Amino acid sequence: MKNLGILGSTGSIGAQTLEVVRKNPDSYSVGALAVMGNIKVLKEQILEFRPKMVAVFDPDKAKLLKEEIIKLKAAAPRMKRKESAPNQPLFAVEVLAGIEGLVAIATAGEVDLVVNSVVGSVGLVPTLKAIDAGKDIALANKETLVVAGELVMKKAKEKGVQITPIDSEHSAIFQCLQGEKKESLEKIILTASGGPFRAWKKEEIAKATFREALKHPNWDMGRKISIDSATMMNKGLEVIEARWLFDVPAEKIETVVHPESIVHSMVEYVDSSVIAELGVPDMKVPIQYALSYPERIKADYEKLSLSKIKNLSFEEPDTQRFPCLKLAYDALEAGGTMPAVMNGANEVLVEAYLEEKITFYDIPKYIEMAMKAHKPFDYTTMEEILEVDRWVRDYVRNTLL
Ligand code: MG
Repeated sequence: MKNLGILGSTGSIGAQTLEVVRKNPDSYSVGALAVMGNIKVLKEQILEFRPKMVAVFDPDKAKLLKEEIIKLKAAAPRMKRKESAPNQPLFAVEVLAGIEGLVAIATAGEVDLVVNSVVGSVGLVPTLKAIDAGKDIALANKETLVVAGELVMKKAKEKGVQITPIDSEHSAIFQCLQGEKKESLEKIILTASGGPFRAWKKEEIAKATFREALKHPNWDMGRKISIDSATMMNKGLEVIEARWLFDVPAEKIETVVHPESIVHSMVEYVDSSVIAELGVPDMKVPIQYALSYPERIKADYEKLSLSKIKNLSFEEPDTQRFPCLKLAYDALEAGGTMPAVMNGANEVLVEAYLEEKITFYDIPKYIEMAMKAHKPFDYTTMEEILEVDRWVRDYVRNTLL
């Protein structure tokens, strides 16, 4: 039985992680949950999964939840225990707040595996603290590796911590690499769906509203990643994520657009063999693998029927229409703190686009300006990265916007 600590439990990945737990009550339990601010859904999760600790990043919401818990405790004798957690006392749950709360969840003594599915670079500090505490991590928070991948992977190695990827592409690559020697690897081929604007003309994309950008053809995802997918920054972030996760230089990471999202990614070996991982697009499959690794657990997710799908297609990514992908390669080439600058700028700009303050192509335009304004350096500590992250957010908000 693995006891999980889930950061971002009310988001898309967090909720699907809990679905995996629900399907496998003999394999997983929930020890701790953390959310950014959605206490309504968190309350339901507390009632169902009975974690010992929860954290809410927003301190006002944490306070509200504490009051709710007191009311629930008072009503507890009248409520029935859930069969999924028959031995746990009702509502013996501690409520924490802020980044300290997230860190407490990530380092809690009873947690065996931390699932980090928060969105954005806010996931970095809890990830590093979890590594310090020797916790294995199932990682969906790609921004953590984008801003400080070198530091995170170095620390994980020192501490003997296993990081298993949840991102479908990286889960695919991780699976394709099992049992192979690193010297045999020729390149990684990351597949991209191309997002909702794959077949749109540049002039049309320029006028796209955030509502159109949120309509992803294959994957049901959160708002931030959906916009990233529309700009193809998501693929750029994933290139950087792969660079650090698998310790492979950027020139050995290729991207190919594959609109059906059936081939989740591939690895080419020195003998010209290519190994791919395929499946119906369903995040619960890579989530479950990240939890069960190195084992596999039988599951009834939809099976792949290639004869039903018939055709799989592939095309080159178009960096004219989707400049964010190129910016990510540029940031990797510049090295050091540059990916953190690109990421911080992107987070602020996606927010501004969702608030209809900027247009679609303002996102890459302002990211590029922020990158031009920064002289990258080789960082060695978390504090240096956090400082750069703060700088770029201020710069984009106050100077560019
Ligand atoms: Mg992905």
